[in-house]
Amino acid sequence: MSELREDMSAFESVNYFFHRAARDVELDQQTCQVLSGTYREIQVQIPLRRDDGSVTTLYGYRVQHNGARGPYKGGVRYHPAADLDEVRALASLMTWKTAVVDLPFGGAKGGIQVDPTELSSSEKERMTRRFMSQVSYIVGVQRDIMAPDMNTNAQTMAWMMDEYGQRKGHTAGIVTGKPVELGGSLGRDAATGRGCVIVLNEAVRDAGTTPYDLTVAIQGFGNVGSWAARLAAEEGYRVVAVSDVQGAIYNQKGLDIEALLGHSRETGSIVDFPDAEPMDGDDILTMDVDVLIPAALGEVITKSNADQIQAKLIVEGANHPVTPVADEILRDRGVTIVPDILANAGGVTVSYFEWTQNIQQFRWEEERVNDELTKVMTQAYQQVRDYAESREVDLRQAAFALGVQRVANAAHLRGYV
Ligand code: NAD
Repeated sequence: MSELREDMSAFESVNYFFHRAARDVELDQQTCQVLSGTYREIQVQIPLRRDDGSVTTLYGYRVQHNGARGPYKGGVRYHPAADLDEVRALASLMTWKTAVVDLPFGGAKGGIQVDPTELSSSEKERMTRRFMSQVSYIVGVQRDIMAPDMNTNAQTMAWMMDEYGQRKGHTAGIVTGKPVELGGSLGRDAATGRGCVIVLNEAVRDAGTTPYDLTVAIQGFGNVGSWAARLAAEEGYRVVAVSDVQGAIYNQKGLDIEALLGHSRETGSIVDFPDAEPMDGDDILTMDVDVLIPAALGEVITKSNADQIQAKLIVEGANHPVTPVADEILRDRGVTIVPDILANAGGVTVSYFEWTQNIQQFRWEEERVNDELTKVMTQAYQQVRDYAESREVDLRQAAFALGVQRVANAAHLRGYV
């Protein structure tokens, strides 16, 4: 097991958590070796024809981490930091996440290392189509299914599905998180944020308190953050601060989230929302609130700010927002963390429902989607919490242990290792 260091890469960090759990479930050395590596990694060159006629050379990645439990599943992000190491880390998190919520999927992730804010919509479309065309050899409805992540959305999935369909014939189930008009699932857009709020409610109940007593701060106001804010407010939490890449805002009485959604849709940001005070974006993590939901980037809570975190409960909407060193500091300080592989699993859960609907060529009512999501998330939370209590470990270690055990069992049963 690697020693704890603050300068670990993202993939080393996830493997640090993996090895700790592997020791907990007494995993043998050979299985450990298999599960700490990735099955397949592909790097593709994307020469992007810009609107002005010039060509920018980009690189994209698809990493399939482990498929013992089913087809590979995972999102695709467009971000300057989306290099091979980050995509590996996110792919392995998907393996453990799909296992924690007991979906019949393996783990994968994709990314293009690019700043999408510098691209026009038609440039994004050409880039997306080229990426899908180049990875089309290794994806498939029963092989590897993509979905949205940072800076990708339902429109991105529509282009991907169309590009794949041109080669292989119409294939709705090749991506999830599609527009509903193209076979997307009702409730998918809200699913990750909804999942965060479902586990938040469980954790709050375990702590013996109620939403009405609690203040919440949310970093990120994209798909995950904005839905988490809206649904948390509906449940009675007081969402007092939110941020996006441009800044942060604050209102001690609680932000009017519906009005804020309108403002953010109109202006493209939460900043300058009339009914709030501006604040420094970084301060949102350390402000005096009861609940913190990081829902933007990875590695935002580190050794340098972990001892300033004031929230007593952190629900990880984002993937890998807390470094392993920060995780230890927070645990020693008694902060409860609902880890990413549990807290943000609502998205992949409804992606599973979408894939199922596509295969059955049938549509579920939104109420059914939300009810099934609630069942999956609640059961997973309770299993993780019970494991944590019985072994006297934290929720992250418990979630990893459950996930690792399930993946190892599947790999053994198949004779893979
Ligand atoms: P998104 O692109 O819809 O939104 C990202 C948000 O983060 C935006 O509001 C953006 O302005 C903000 N942001 C970016 N950089 C920031 C910074 N430096 N400081 C503050 N805010 C910043 O992305 P998303 O789909 O909401 O994903 C957010 C996180 O949730 C990622 O870590 C992603 O991997 C994770 N996640 C997403 C899903 C999903 O279904 N979309 C599922 C599981 C996990």
